Amino acid sequence: PPMIEFDRVGFGYPDGPPVLHEVSFAVPAGTRTALVGPSGAGKSTLLALVERFYEVTAGALRVDGVDVRDVPRDVLRARLGYVEQEAPVLAGTLRGNLLIGAPTATDAQLRAVLDEVNLGHLAERTADGLDVQVGEGGVLLSGGERQRLAIARALLAGPPVLLLDEPTSNLDARNEAALRRAIDAVAVRRTLLIVAHRLSTVVDADQIVVLDGGRVVATGTHDQLTTTS
Ligand code: ADP
Ligand code: ADP
Repeated sequence: PPMIEFDRVGFGYPDGPPVLHEVSFAVPAGTRTALVGPSGAGKSTLLALVERFYEVTAGALRVDGVDVRDVPRDVLRARLGYVEQEAPVLAGTLRGNLLIGAPTATDAQLRAVLDEVNLGHLAERTADGLDVQVGEGGVLLSGGERQRLAIARALLAGPPVLLLDEPTSNLDARNEAALRRAIDAVAVRRTLLIVAHRLSTVVDADQIVVLDGGRVVATGTHDQLTTTS
């Protein structure tokens, strides 16, 4: 079965109107799917449904062939690394920020995930290494760096699936390239469902799902979607 499968999924927030209508698409294991569409289209809501932050109100959502309603939340979430759009940095050390998701990780593992997302330099900046202070009162991180730190944190727990809400804030060229390289690196051997705000993310995706008004209005590769019409 596909790693993630939306099968005519409908959803509305409690006491609100429906915001997703008959959404169907599948994410095969080991592939990268980008969700695009205007603000309010329902992209972030789709990611929240996969995590069972909310329950679908129509249709079915399956992870690895099993309806998410039949999987305990902690079991489900152990398989999903979710990285929010405005990933917070906790005031404290770099090590402290990484260990939240995997308290027993070794320094070698921390350095490996930092390298994977192009943040190895943070631990090299001062003699403090992984004990360098970040956030409030320490090294301030750009939006792209904060998100890469959150990706590194998610990777430590070893999930086969990453749900990634790309930052919308303007990234400078260097941060955009670094985020793109980080996404390319983590895409190897993993399944990615990414809310994409940047063309560069969409170009390399195996599949693009275009949402508008809570409906899938197009599905295809970047080439397929740009050569039709
Ligand atoms: P996108 O990520 O594409 O910008 P969202 O998934 O955030 O879209 O939002 C889809 C729709 O759901 C919008 O109409 C939005 O106002 C509404 N919405 C999002 N979050 C909530 C919430 N927590 N409670 C009620 N409505 C919400
Ligand atoms: P919001 O933008 O949602 O108001 P905050 O500004 O309160 O979020 O930041 C949330 C967390 O991220 C705080 O712990 C803060 O120390 C940290 N933080 C905020 N900005 C930066 C930054 N530029 N670099 C590193 N950490 C930051």
